[in-house]
Amino acid sequence: MDGLNLNFGLGGGSEPEVETVLNDAPRPEVENVIIIGSGPAGWSAGIYTGRANLRPLLITGNELGGQVAITNEVENYPGFPEGLTGPELAEKMQAQAQKFGTAVEIDYVTEIDVAGPPFGVKTASGKHYRANALIVATGASPRKLGVPGEERLTGRGVSYCATCDGFFFRGKELVVVGGGDSALEEALFLTRFATKIRVIHRRAQLRAGATLKRRAESNPRIEFVWNSVVTRIDGENKVESVTLKNTATGAVSELRTDGVFIYVGHLPNNQFFQGKLAMDELGYLITDKLMRTSVPGIFAAGEIQDHRFRQVATSVGQGVAAAMETEKYLAELEDRAYPGHTAYIEPLRRFVSRF
Ligand code: NAP
Repeated sequence: MDGLNLNFGLGGGSEPEVETVLNDAPRPEVENVIIIGSGPAGWSAGIYTGRANLRPLLITGNELGGQVAITNEVENYPGFPEGLTGPELAEKMQAQAQKFGTAVEIDYVTEIDVAGPPFGVKTASGKHYRANALIVATGASPRKLGVPGEERLTGRGVSYCATCDGFFFRGKELVVVGGGDSALEEALFLTRFATKIRVIHRRAQLRAGATLKRRAESNPRIEFVWNSVVTRIDGENKVESVTLKNTATGAVSELRTDGVFIYVGHLPNNQFFQGKLAMDELGYLITDKLMRTSVPGIFAAGEIQDHRFRQVATSVGQGVAAAMETEKYLAELEDRAYPGHTAYIEPLRRFVSRF
């Protein structure tokens, strides 16, 4: 690989010696791998493909750092017992990926051409890349209610992640919006901290499955407010109340609360994969255990292909797996392009190792 000068552990110390690779080194005409997305899955794929000397190029998307970068505090990511903020974790991941040679483009992918390799990638700034492999890590975004106060108070009482933020509401009263599995699962999780959780649902029947429904209905800390939608969220510097509108009678009321957890679904960021990569009925990319999508050479990791776990740690694992499989795929591709390549390289490696 051109332009790289990585040197792992040759000094014999416990710390690997690493020469940082400059991002402004000339790029090849066809990239080895382009990583699309800058959440935990994307940075992890960058760290691993970078360390594998693949000179990855990562295109960030509009939200640098992904969902974790808008999370108050992360206390459940292994290795940080004292916790750290979401932006801190995102920055550390980015620094680590760049340290190992991941080039970063702050840009937004608008189109991919899957008739490869090489695959085509077009961006909002008008750039056109080609790459022998792609790792898609575009994530998902929580569906928003779109009501006044929601955006302003996000991170100040409005949250889309009970696992991330529930701990900060010990002894408080909360509102959960939604009637699906996520709303009830997260409401049940929040009963560990909050004294009262009111689930606001726009209809009188839950969408959630029977088991979660039974557990939520029998939990003394959970109360249901039926046929109601949140029309605004109020509070000076943090959430203080929500305004509710009854969908049956039209009656408007105010409900005081310390926090609002919104679970009205997630939207996978799949806009430019429509008709190109196989998706499930919810719009998430379909991958196998090796993180392969329906097109050989295109891998996916993180929430673009996982709506079940949705944790930083699981996205990191998936990013690592996608990177390792990409490395393998590229080696096989190279082998096909230069038959006998490995047959020649292996004896040479053994010869060199004797000295
Ligand atoms: P979901 O099933 O789409 O439910 C979204 C809920 O939000 C619905 O109750 C919907 O109301 C409500 N809603 C949507 N837009 C709204 C709006 N603008 N205002 C007020 N309410 C609104 O989403 P999810 O709960 O995130 O689940 C996504 C998928 O993951 C589902 O397939 C689910 O089964 C699965 N999942 C499974 C588990 C589990 O098995 N443990 C846990 C989590 C998620 P309506 O009901 O009136 O449409």
